[in-house]
Amino acid sequence: MTLLRVENLRKSFGGVQAVQGVSFALAAGELLALIGPNGAGKSTTFNMVDGQLAPDGGRVLLDGQDITGLSPRAIWRRGVGRTFQIAQTFASFSVLQNVQLALLSHDRKAWRWWRRADAHRPQDALALLEQVGMAAQAHRPCSELAYGDVKRVELAMALAHAPRLLLMDEPTAGMAPAERLALMRLVQRLARERRMAVLFTEHSMDVVFGQADRVAVLVRGQLLAEGTPDAIRQDERVQQVYLGQ
Ligand code: ADP
Ligand code: MG
Repeated sequence: MTLLRVENLRKSFGGVQAVQGVSFALAAGELLALIGPNGAGKSTTFNMVDGQLAPDGGRVLLDGQDITGLSPRAIWRRGVGRTFQIAQTFASFSVLQNVQLALLSHDRKAWRWWRRADAHRPQDALALLEQVGMAAQAHRPCSELAYGDVKRVELAMALAHAPRLLLMDEPTAGMAPAERLALMRLVQRLARERRMAVLFTEHSMDVVFGQADRVAVLVRGQLLAEGTPDAIRQDERVQQVYLGQ
């Protein structure tokens, strides 16, 4: 069952045609890696899916509903979550408090009690931390964590909103190879358990070919190829793009 459908998306910046008619679909529980050289249009595509950029043309459909050009907040409310290339947490707050704040931001009625974020749904926050393997560090400030662990906290924060679709733009940037694989294995497991679709960009081919269900290759704003990791690995056009890189 298709959760996200992107149809013929286009975006230019001045004379630069960043995205030139990109289409793909993503099912619930599925991981799609969007790969391609720097400047290919990956981030621009992400930003049009989550509402940060309004497309010049084309449509974004979530569960069959047209969400093209809605505000980021409106799209977030429909169940689209996001993590960032540089993990965003409150460094001086504890791991648990960060997840409590994420839960609080989802629970609009609770804003009245924002001063008492400490008291907000601690058990739910802890359960989310268990899912990402960070419960043992719940009371440490984020500033003390290794970078890979900050990424896990950020993931728990994104899960607080129970997204149907999670967008991860270069989630493993700045991480060691073993950490990258561990993080994306975790994401894959969570996607399966929660029937959550994940669209991610990634430079490590080990992660792409090991963890993605399908791979879409973007070159100069256009989709060069799309298919299973095996099919993409054997695609001669894709090999040409990556040769010499
Ligand atoms: P990727 O994420 O694949 O590296 P981007 O989507 O960031 O690629 O960029 C695609 C192209 O669009 C690049 O040529 C980039 O310089 C250009 N671009 C992206 N964002 C902007 C912007 N806000 N203003 C002008 N040009 C941009
Ligand atoms: Mg990018």
